[in-house]
Amino acid sequence: MQLTVAYFTMEIGLQSHMPTYAGGLGMLAGDLMRSCADLQVQAACMTVGWKHGYLRQKIHPDGSQEYEQFSWNKEEFLTRLPEVVTVQVQGREVRVGCWKLDLQSGGHSVPIYFLDADLPGNTPEDRAITDQLYGGDGTMRLSQEIVLGIGGVRMLRALGYNDIGTFHMNEGHAAFLTLELLRERNFIDDDVRKLCAFTTHTPVKAGHDVFDYDLAWRVVGDMLPWHIRKLAGDERLSMTELAMNLSRYVCGVSQIHGQVSRAMFPDHAIDAITNGIHHTHWACPEMQQLFDDQAPGWREDPTVLERNCRDFDDDELWQAHMAAKRRLLAEVKARTGQEFREHHLTIASARRVVPYKRPELLYTNLERLKEVCGGRVQIIHAGNAHPSDPFSQGVIQRMIERSDSLRDTVHIAYMENYNPDLAKLLVSGADVWLNTPTRLMEASGTSGMKACLNGVLNLSTLDGWWAEAYARDPEAGWRIGPLAGAIQNETEHRKVDAEDLYTQLQFEVLHEYEYKDRKRWIRRMKRSIGLLGYFSAQRCVQEYLQKAWQSQ
Ligand SMILES: *Cc1c(COP(=O)(O)O)cnc(C)c1O
Repeated sequence: MQLTVAYFTMEIGLQSHMPTYAGGLGMLAGDLMRSCADLQVQAACMTVGWKHGYLRQKIHPDGSQEYEQFSWNKEEFLTRLPEVVTVQVQGREVRVGCWKLDLQSGGHSVPIYFLDADLPGNTPEDRAITDQLYGGDGTMRLSQEIVLGIGGVRMLRALGYNDIGTFHMNEGHAAFLTLELLRERNFIDDDVRKLCAFTTHTPVKAGHDVFDYDLAWRVVGDMLPWHIRKLAGDERLSMTELAMNLSRYVCGVSQIHGQVSRAMFPDHAIDAITNGIHHTHWACPEMQQLFDDQAPGWREDPTVLERNCRDFDDDELWQAHMAAKRRLLAEVKARTGQEFREHHLTIASARRVVPYKRPELLYTNLERLKEVCGGRVQIIHAGNAHPSDPFSQGVIQRMIERSDSLRDTVHIAYMENYNPDLAKLLVSGADVWLNTPTRLMEASGTSGMKACLNGVLNLSTLDGWWAEAYARDPEAGWRIGPLAGAIQNETEHRKVDAEDLYTQLQFEVLHEYEYKDRKRWIRRMKRSIGLLGYFSAQRCVQEYLQKAWQSQ
């Protein structure tokens, strides 16, 4: 059997009840595979059927959090396949099985394969390798990467795929696939390089997987070739170096991220393919209806949105937005008991909580926040911290404490357990999507694209995808702070951005929102929807096909 691309990824986000992802990296994989199905690409995805992927977040009234294991019944979602392969982990034979889900679109399907080490015959320790996404120590991580990379290639062969044009590594976690390909091709690097492509997602060095060679030898053993130091780095084994050295094409996930990656790895040619979202998946029902009426053909070809958006009927667009907003506010009421007002400007800010995303930037100056937002603005937050990241859990707790202290002036809700279902409510029901990453740290970001598609206006620092979107059409939303080049230091950067955030809110966003006719606002909504002509997963897959998956 033949494939244009076998897409390897440690996580994939498909549904709220399948905990096989942690964040944006996995959500992107899901959207790209959906677009591969739409475009009838001969693609398959290789990933892991995590028993517990992300953990379910519970927030206590005092703002402290609990992260519970979230188990699922794979049989409800997936089909178990009979194939079993083995890999060596610390010298032991580990059996790896496989589950399948077909993503279907118009008669074409893209199979997603989920590897699983929880099989009889494996020791309890080995059965646990596929338990927890990003859990455990270096030994565990290496074991997981063996299962994904080496086990994944073996599984594809066992399934009968003997003609694969490109093995795509979505982040360095998948780089051990090159070890199996080296073995298959008599350790001829050039032959492997012709088969591989790699996307890096992480703009900071510390975010890349590296392992001591002692540990790597112990866990991976003789699957490591004699010249591994030449391929993966002299001092320590870098999964990113390994992937880059054995790929014929390497890219980052936005234009700025491409530049940052080239500066980090000056010895490599690194291109950029900006991420995109799956347009039909992320449009709320009312917007789907509107687009069906006023942009026929948009489902097959999202560039129709760009061409038709300026002629959308103002009233119908506003009504569609208000229906989504009412649905969100009803959910806020159901979950938190808070009565939000339908006609108040509603800002949503939701994302995985990590320091560089600076979710607390809005609370830098509470007096200013009260002055600008008091009685006129309501704010909804959501986002999980990593269960072993007390710092970010503290950030969430402090945000909740501050919002309690503002209760009488600004309505603020923190909704627990951010997942794709909640994301869909938020990216369609808010008026403004707020994103405040430290510049150069947000590789791309995709949630803002989901907001755009639903006519929710972005207010964001100029980083990742938004720097590109804002340059394309500054009328589609607003920026916070200066362009990338202008940053001095972290503290200064934060001060400047916080000040500008209040200024933008007061003099631009609120001013336009409360102006008596909403023409200007609605015009921005249309232009924001128009951006999906470019920021779709469809365009992204087409670019991958041209640049990365064109086999040699
Ligand atoms: C889209 C999405 C993300 C990624 O969004 P960012 O813009 O990178 O923060 C993460 N989690 C969920 C549930 C999403 O839907």
